[in-house]
Amino acid sequence: MASSTAADGTKKLDIVIVGGSLGGLCAGVALKSLGHDITILERNATPLLHDQGAGIVAGGDTLAFFKRYDRCGRSFAVSSQRRQYLNLNGDVVHREDMVQNMTSWDLVYHILRANFDGTESVYCHVPPPVEAHGNARHLHGHLVTGVREADNGQVCVEYTTHDGTTSTILADLVVGADGPSSTLRRILQPDVQRTYAGYVALRGTVPETRVSQSTRAAFTERFTFFHCPGVQILAYLIPGEQGTLEPGRRLINFVYYTNFPSASLDDPSPALAELMTDVDGVRHRITMPPGKTDMGAWEKQRVSARQRLPPQFAEIVCATTKPFVQAITDVISPENEFLGGKVVLIGDALAGFRPHTVASTSQAAFDAMILADMVAGKVERKEWKRETMAYARTVQRRGVQMGQHSQHDDLPLEDHIHDRNVASIPRQDEVWPDWATRGLD
Ligand SMILES: Cc1cc2nc3c(=O)[nH]c(=O)nc-3n(C[C@H](O)[C@H](O)[C@H](O)COP(=O)(O)OP(=O)(O)OC[C@H]3O[C@@H](n4cnc5c(N)ncnc54)[C@H](O)[C@@H]3O)c2cc1C
Repeated sequence: MASSTAADGTKKLDIVIVGGSLGGLCAGVALKSLGHDITILERNATPLLHDQGAGIVAGGDTLAFFKRYDRCGRSFAVSSQRRQYLNLNGDVVHREDMVQNMTSWDLVYHILRANFDGTESVYCHVPPPVEAHGNARHLHGHLVTGVREADNGQVCVEYTTHDGTTSTILADLVVGADGPSSTLRRILQPDVQRTYAGYVALRGTVPETRVSQSTRAAFTERFTFFHCPGVQILAYLIPGEQGTLEPGRRLINFVYYTNFPSASLDDPSPALAELMTDVDGVRHRITMPPGKTDMGAWEKQRVSARQRLPPQFAEIVCATTKPFVQAITDVISPENEFLGGKVVLIGDALAGFRPHTVASTSQAAFDAMILADMVAGKVERKEWKRETMAYARTVQRRGVQMGQHSQHDDLPLEDHIHDRNVASIPRQDEVWPDWATRGLD
């Protein structure tokens, strides 16, 4: 007979997580390990999310999460020993020794799925089940449409499946990990808007062996940057196909910020509309998926890259075959708990950071860990609230400032280096400014 108590002897909870990307999976893995039963509702129609083929910087909290919860045990990051800045000729003009770990979205996703619900993949082995863990269900094709307090004191989550059937599920706790356009946030905080920041990130990868020797050297064990007015580009090595870390099979990943002024994403300027219209003539609002970019529109970016970027960066931008585009947006919720604390928001649903902060995955990992600690009674609710909200507010605002400096101000390189160094402060060493903790004590 199924046990009604969790691993620590408290009542076993039914927890529903909305969204099965990295934030939802981190929360699922952490809460399952306490012995609670977890159901993830993911709107995507396929059992696995399709990656955007891109890299993520594994920050301190991502590494801490893996150390604490990952039972697959494989290495998942390529290290960079140094940050360096190039001038337009491609010469290194500044260096900072700093070890950072770079991984890929797809590798992290598959490791988390192996830990959560035992999904097999070529990326990693599936760890054996642990008796004290709760049950884990991952339901794809489940679009959450509503959330409300149920008569019995639980929370009722409404969803529609891909065949159009509408149904409900009851939960003791609902975790909103449904991303920067969160449905739960829209229902619970209808005034919060996700706004366009006036520029996009052009992104892509190139196999490390498909570039010249000098370009490969510029990005191997290096986190490399270039700034000029209205432009920032950075690149680093990430795991290759199927998560391989083998030298020669890894990928160079770039993020190239460039301005596309437009009043909004709903009424894009002609240039933005052209960039965001795919090969089939379909207009994408926020993300142009890899492989869909219209190569006519992309050719303009190649020409501009050759004019504006150091040769190593121009080479990788021109060499990528499946570029994708991400419009940069801002969003933050003023609250992260609702219905008496029975619904919480985490990760991008709480605060969508600009990518300059390289902190989105770390936020998701941190929010998941501290939520599990609060549920387990190891962290007080007040502390949970303070740490998650102050972090969200501080890093969200920092991202806006970094973006302003990078894309709209004309600043000396030292200022960009300063911004990058501030963004590297480990979360536990941050001193939250007063405004970031206002109303939380
Ligand atoms: C498919 C995908 C690929 C990505 N690839 C990269 C990458 O290559 N590099 C990178 O740096 N970042 C990538 N990201 C973003 C990165 O995962 C996040 O910024 C970070 O990990 C924290 O995300 P999150 O889980 O809080 O939100 P998100 O990653 O945005 O995930 C939200 C999830 O909720 C689901 N969802 C939304 N609304 C509903 C609803 N109403 N009902 C049910 N489900 C819902 C979405 O389908 C999605 O899976 C990707 C995100 C996704 C979804």
